[in-house]
Amino acid sequence: MVEKENKNNEELKLDEEMKIIEVATTTTIKQLADKIGVSATEVIKTMMKKGKLMNMNQEIDFDTAVMIAELFNVLVEKEDERDLLEEIFGSDEEEDPAKLVERPPVVVVMGHVDHGKTSLLDAIRSTDVTTGEAGGITQHIGASAVTLNGKKITFLDTPGHEAFTAMRMRGAKVTDIAILVVAADDGVMPQTIEAINHARAANVQIIVAVNKIDKPGANPDRVKQELAEYGLLVEDWGGDTICVHVSALKKEGIDTLLEMILLVAEMADLKANPSGKARGTVIEAELDKGRGPVATVLVQNGTLKIGDPIVVSETYGRIRAMNNYKGKPVKKAGPSTAVEILGLSDVPLGGDMFYIANNDKQARQVAEKVKAQGREKMVINTGFIIFW
Ligand code: GDP
Ligand code: MG
Repeated sequence: MVEKENKNNEELKLDEEMKIIEVATTTTIKQLADKIGVSATEVIKTMMKKGKLMNMNQEIDFDTAVMIAELFNVLVEKEDERDLLEEIFGSDEEEDPAKLVERPPVVVVMGHVDHGKTSLLDAIRSTDVTTGEAGGITQHIGASAVTLNGKKITFLDTPGHEAFTAMRMRGAKVTDIAILVVAADDGVMPQTIEAINHARAANVQIIVAVNKIDKPGANPDRVKQELAEYGLLVEDWGGDTICVHVSALKKEGIDTLLEMILLVAEMADLKANPSGKARGTVIEAELDKGRGPVATVLVQNGTLKIGDPIVVSETYGRIRAMNNYKGKPVKKAGPSTAVEILGLSDVPLGGDMFYIANNDKQARQVAEKVKAQGREKMVINTGFIIFW
């Protein structure tokens, strides 16, 4: 309460008696009555005297709330629009350190066209003995996982160049480590440089994989020299960039590469809280003729479960089904796990972040608010930093 010196005591007292409440853009008679401090019946009776019939659960807009509250000598202020959003989106800072546990690294393979990104991912997948499926697994979504010495590594498929830039612009910070594939017979090329820049801007750790070392024209030293020109000095040259020689074709050096990923991950001390509501990022999404909107999401914190009321930017829904990267149905997905989800009202965009609401109605309300405020604004508002 602001005290003005020219006010006499009488006025001050009147001011103090005026109660101020905060009301959302839409509210119910019951909610408003609670805030005013009277019973809903009292509000209904008062309104009846004014010739208006209302019921307890009736939704009223802000102006009506102001008008009703005035009758009870109560001032109304608009509730901060962000309150509901903050309730859902929360903040990473609230995380209880005691609940944090180690999580698998999320890795993306980048590099110039034809340097062997796809081949390397294939080679990595085929080394995963734990899948127990002869000839490797058939991948169903734009992500996969391998396990080495009991530790999991999540791989995201290399996004197309446009998708990559779009995701970065949209603010998705999803990867921990980037494998920079450089063909030993070709050296640093334009997309190699772009990949370095992307990774740097996103503050992602780079591991260099010098590929195609089986080729007669392979010259790994030239690659290292060229990389040095772009500020990536490899370890055996006194720098701190880990560099592994591989042949995706001959499946050589793959285990060493995976060990290095785990080493870098360990040093990065990657953690998440598997308990509690999930949050994460959409990797890709599409409209499936039979199944409706389908999104592949990366869970970054908490655990995603079937039945969760989910908000994904402007879209929302209740998770009807989830499939892992092998296309197998799962009931839940913890940190650093990529799953395909079904049940959204619409197709979200890659890079959209998802959150879990308290219930279906709230999920819808939040999605509507995000729509009203704009996705881009939302990303910044919730304090998430922008980079792939
Ligand atoms: P991407 O465009 O980076 O995904 O590259 P690809 O994985 O499609 O590979 C491009 C070409 O290089 C293909 O013909 C591969 O068979 C070949 N290739 C990939 N890795 C190796 C390798 O380690 N050795 C040799 N000799 N060829 C490779
Ligand atoms: Mg490819």
